[in-house]
Amino acid sequence: MKVIVITPPVIQLNSPYPSGAYLCSFFKNQKDECTWKDLNISLFYKIFSASGLETLFSLTEKKAMEMADFAVSKDDKNTAFNLRRYICTKQNWINWIDFIVAILCGKMREKEHEFLFSPFAPRGSRMENFLASLNREPTVDDVRFLCSYALADLADYITAVFDKDFSLVRYAESLCVDERDFLQIQNQMDSPVLKVFYEQVLQENLVFEQNEIPDIVCISVPFAGTFLPALYTASFIKKKYQNKIFVTMGGGFVNTQLRETTEPQFSKFIDAFSFDRGYGSYIELKKHFKDIKNQNFFRPLYKLQLFYDDKTILPLWKDEKISKIENKLTADIMPDYQDIDFSIYPRVCDDLNPMHRIWNDGSWIKAYLAHGCYWHKCAFCDTQLDYVCGYKIVQTESLFFRLLETANSKNVYGIHFVDEALPPKALKKFALLNAQNGNKLYFWGNVRFEKTFTKDFAAFLSYCGFGGASAGLEIATENGLKTINKGTDIYSIISACAAFKEAGILVHAYMIYGFWNDTPQTIINSMETLRQFFESGLLDSAFWHKFVLTKNSQVFFEWKNGHHKDLFPIQNQNKKSLFADMNMHFKGEQNFDRFSIPLENALNSWMHGKNLQTKVQKWFDFQIPAPTIPKDFVETQIQKYLDKNEQIKIEEDDKDIFWLGSKPVVSQHKTSFTIKWFYLQEDFQETFKQQDFASYKNFDFQKDFLTLFDFLSPCAGTDLHENAVKRIKTSASFKNAFNKLHQKGLVIF
Ligand code: SF4
Repeated sequence: MKVIVITPPVIQLNSPYPSGAYLCSFFKNQKDECTWKDLNISLFYKIFSASGLETLFSLTEKKAMEMADFAVSKDDKNTAFNLRRYICTKQNWINWIDFIVAILCGKMREKEHEFLFSPFAPRGSRMENFLASLNREPTVDDVRFLCSYALADLADYITAVFDKDFSLVRYAESLCVDERDFLQIQNQMDSPVLKVFYEQVLQENLVFEQNEIPDIVCISVPFAGTFLPALYTASFIKKKYQNKIFVTMGGGFVNTQLRETTEPQFSKFIDAFSFDRGYGSYIELKKHFKDIKNQNFFRPLYKLQLFYDDKTILPLWKDEKISKIENKLTADIMPDYQDIDFSIYPRVCDDLNPMHRIWNDGSWIKAYLAHGCYWHKCAFCDTQLDYVCGYKIVQTESLFFRLLETANSKNVYGIHFVDEALPPKALKKFALLNAQNGNKLYFWGNVRFEKTFTKDFAAFLSYCGFGGASAGLEIATENGLKTINKGTDIYSIISACAAFKEAGILVHAYMIYGFWNDTPQTIINSMETLRQFFESGLLDSAFWHKFVLTKNSQVFFEWKNGHHKDLFPIQNQNKKSLFADMNMHFKGEQNFDRFSIPLENALNSWMHGKNLQTKVQKWFDFQIPAPTIPKDFVETQIQKYLDKNEQIKIEEDDKDIFWLGSKPVVSQHKTSFTIKWFYLQEDFQETFKQQDFASYKNFDFQKDFLTLFDFLSPCAGTDLHENAVKRIKTSASFKNAFNKLHQKGLVIF
């Protein structure tokens, strides 16, 4: 079969979204001919290029000038100035746009000097604000920021004058979350960016010679901000090829928001929804393809919802046999990035915060170590859905070698793991493989802040290339964590963050406020603890989300079974939503709206190292109780963490031992040896007496002792390492000697 997998716009620009890599690999694995087309990046170049901007300005010049005149009449000089500047300097923008994008792709260093200093380079208000915020003369090293703000300035122009639904990272998102009427969605498909620019992208990518027409086009819809362009894509295919091409939609947005949709109008655009991982449903589709295509198959199929002209065949949600095959495939399928040219993805940098930078400023190869979450019990999370509860680990070794091969062939050595929560055991294995194979990959992703991430384990991970951890802290109080069934406690969270930070690993925390059982006191306590996290340097960044009750959450599931008497969900009385009402309202939720701005403002300051001493109540313009968290709460926990680490010793249990220090140099004295080495940028030394090893006959310090350091390195082979560990654990002299090196280069975990 011929299959095309499509990533529709508009999503993050710096890296391709990974679902295409997995789906393409799956079809190839099934011996199908499969191509992946990332139309997100294609649309970006269609707009943000010299010819794109020529079209844009020619279509908008008149309107922009009219809007400027109108702004003057309203005494809004600033808007008028900006709009007129875009138009008067449009040729500068057209001349520069290809260079701006090239600079963001890591090319054209020489043009960076010109872009910074030339008075003929374009400027927009975001660029100027950035330059003003520097409080120093800008240097050429600021130019990538300047270019990122240039894109944002152009995006502002597009939103203001051409298409209100456009942004650099999403398209018409609000429409696709709130809209209940399919007609409204269809009308919106006429929107300017789609008609003028995206239509051209589709003409270039989805018009086929007779012998090249694919059998199936799979459109992956990860977020609400890609749904309208996805529908436009489907509509384009159907208009051109009617039933010659079978069009499917799947991905995160379909899995959550379209799970219960029976809207018959979908049949005008698509033939099927593929739910959850997709592998099982596509196996079923392929098996019965002929009959399904002829609308002649009426039995429900595993996770495949069929849209025929006059009816919808709902999916079969459970099938043990297929789900077993799907689990096996989940473990075996490795992402395939063959169709992707990473060099054309702009690495945008628009924030000085190092953790924020890592998200966008790098063209990451995205992959996951496990499908689903190994905990899958948090009360607020979609634990009833496969992407959380369908936990299945992938084959770590195969994944590592596939990613290394991709890195070598694409010249991109950064891996962003998009797991719900990286399983520590698999993470250790991946890290070790990386060290054993030259430590070429740098990788980061979501974890759970839990006690497994000790100081020693974090140092090991950092040594092996792990550079960033994001995780849900959610509510930073002991009771709060219990209520949401986070499965970890505040001490474990603090110690995991401390361990990561000590090891040079960037840390981001996701926070939630407005839980059904929150009070001003619980929120202010959580906020105060978060302040102390930043004050103690445990976090690089964080983000506050407002709690959203979903139909697939653990708490709603438990509420239906008679628990959580303090939760009062409001069942939707309106007409059935197109987007299936997965998000629910509950009594009292609006009471928390007033918290959002103060929480956000405080956090923004803390992330940039400001106002850390300001009392948390001061951020609110309404009465709020003082926090009941002791001022030194986090510091006390950090001390506990430090003390606990001191006590770790090599025991004859299943703990692993690694040497992360530099190779020691040795000075021999009459009856002793001194070794010197570096660890975590500090120098250390230790002296051992010959008599410490008196139980060994003909003991050779160099041969018998120092070689162990090489074998204990994560870079050593597994057999050598295991032998060395065994040797140490079974010898009292070696155990004593190496215990002295703990926290100085030796890690035990
Ligand atoms: S919130 Fe995170 S850790 Fe909790 S169940 Fe969901 S994915 Fe797992």
